[in-house]
Amino acid sequence: MAGTERKTKYIFVTGGVTSSLGKGIISASLAKLLQARGYSVTIQKLDPYINIDPGTLNPYEHGECYVTEDGAETDLDLGHYERFLNISTSQSNNVTTGRIYQAVIEKERRGDYLGETVQVIPHITDEIKHSIKLLGEKGQYDFVLTEIGGTVGDIESLPYIEAIRQLKWELGNNCLVIHLTLVPYLAAAKELKTKPTQHSVKTMLEYGVQPDILVCRTEKPLNDNIRNKIALFCNVDASSVIESIDTNSIYKVPLLMQEEKLDTVVLRKIKMSARKMPAMKSWRQFIRKLESPAKLVNIGLVGKYTELVDAYKSIIESLIHAGTANNCKVNLKMIHSEQVNSENVAEQMSGLTGLIVAPGFGDRGIEGKIAAIEFVRKNNIPFFGICLGMQCAMIEFARNVMGLPDAHSTEMDPDTPDPVIDIMEEQKKIHVKGGTMRLGAYPCQLKKESRVFNIYKNEFISERHRHRYEFNNQYLESFTANGMLPSGVNPETRLVEIVELAGHPWFIGVQFHPEYKSTVAHPHPLFIDFVRAAIKCGD
Ligand code: GLN
Repeated sequence: MAGTERKTKYIFVTGGVTSSLGKGIISASLAKLLQARGYSVTIQKLDPYINIDPGTLNPYEHGECYVTEDGAETDLDLGHYERFLNISTSQSNNVTTGRIYQAVIEKERRGDYLGETVQVIPHITDEIKHSIKLLGEKGQYDFVLTEIGGTVGDIESLPYIEAIRQLKWELGNNCLVIHLTLVPYLAAAKELKTKPTQHSVKTMLEYGVQPDILVCRTEKPLNDNIRNKIALFCNVDASSVIESIDTNSIYKVPLLMQEEKLDTVVLRKIKMSARKMPAMKSWRQFIRKLESPAKLVNIGLVGKYTELVDAYKSIIESLIHAGTANNCKVNLKMIHSEQVNSENVAEQMSGLTGLIVAPGFGDRGIEGKIAAIEFVRKNNIPFFGICLGMQCAMIEFARNVMGLPDAHSTEMDPDTPDPVIDIMEEQKKIHVKGGTMRLGAYPCQLKKESRVFNIYKNEFISERHRHRYEFNNQYLESFTANGMLPSGVNPETRLVEIVELAGHPWFIGVQFHPEYKSTVAHPHPLFIDFVRAAIKCGD
């Protein structure tokens, strides 16, 4: 749309000193505050690694892979964006160096560059700029926030900083750079230190980018001296030095940023009307409930990446949302699937009144997951199986109730005599890994008389998927006859998407990932009801 490029404002968030300072949360918080003032906002993440997308990355390295409605496998920060803003993101909201190079190389092979020498500048930087402006060009956003992954000074992030330098020049007042740094506290000197921030801004200046606003992550409040010192050395006014103090919940960050006037400074600098100061009423109410839960519920999460909470980020956040909706705090016990067996499962489950079995790939820890499911099924403890968790529940049921002792998924045992979970027909011919699963939103029809129908209060739902294997419909009749009911089915393909166990207080398995759709404004109904059942089980 002509002219929209001028209207949309572009805000970049870069990081300095060290990684893990919370750029994603700062970006989501600022976006939340702008959204609360009535502006339309979207956020994208540019990741400087060479993988085309994080779908092929080990969760140990990179945490969870977040899946969008349109089936993009993306960085977990997009989950924060959706949870904070209650918006849907898409493939265009996450771009990696791999994807940028892929696009440039495809153009080169097509002959689009007409014999030019293809170089980092301008070809790679043009492709980066194109990805940034693509969201703005749709004409629907007042603000496009772009978070640059990695730390300034890294070789990988150089082309991104160069693209920002060029855009700052091209867009003038329609563009702003926020740099997030660390102001460490030295216990021995009893002092906050500004030098790392000064150096980090110097690095930005070497690349030709003067940050407009500095957000300083710190464990102690920044006094005026420190703010003035940072302002003096880094060429910003003191009101543009924003404190980002450590806090016990990411959901408090938007309110902390509001107190620090981050949104006001941004609007002033970018010459946009401040509009009305947002009350953030429902957000504050959420925080109040989060801070003062009326009760506690103990829930177990069986998975194989238990040392690393980032691997199950969306599930953990969904439980926080659902706990708050139930006025309760969910105390989550991570249970390593390789450390569970039928001998110790009772001990591992002691005190827990709900169990989630996590998504996953490969056979490591499978028998532990199955042992845990057998225990909760027999002991009437609420069970929620997600993707692989649902598949394990079907295997457990086939083995222990239907008398098929060798039942399995062909993912773990290709020669099983009873493949109750089998590879999907359309997956059989695919041999490359990235982006080839059944991904993104698919419709599902719920049986009217089922528990899930009561939970969703809707016959037709849509949920996001990320899997290759499915329930084998050849076994459908015997599962149903034994009480494991297919209560949600894809209306076109007849794939079973939800199962629930008759006569159990709460036993639901879902082939999709409901955790990707839970937000602060709309906690997911399945998680709310599961937590409610877990509370009831403990009463
Ligand atoms: N490994 C299983 C499959 O591919 C489950 C995937 C998942 O849990 N996301 O079907």
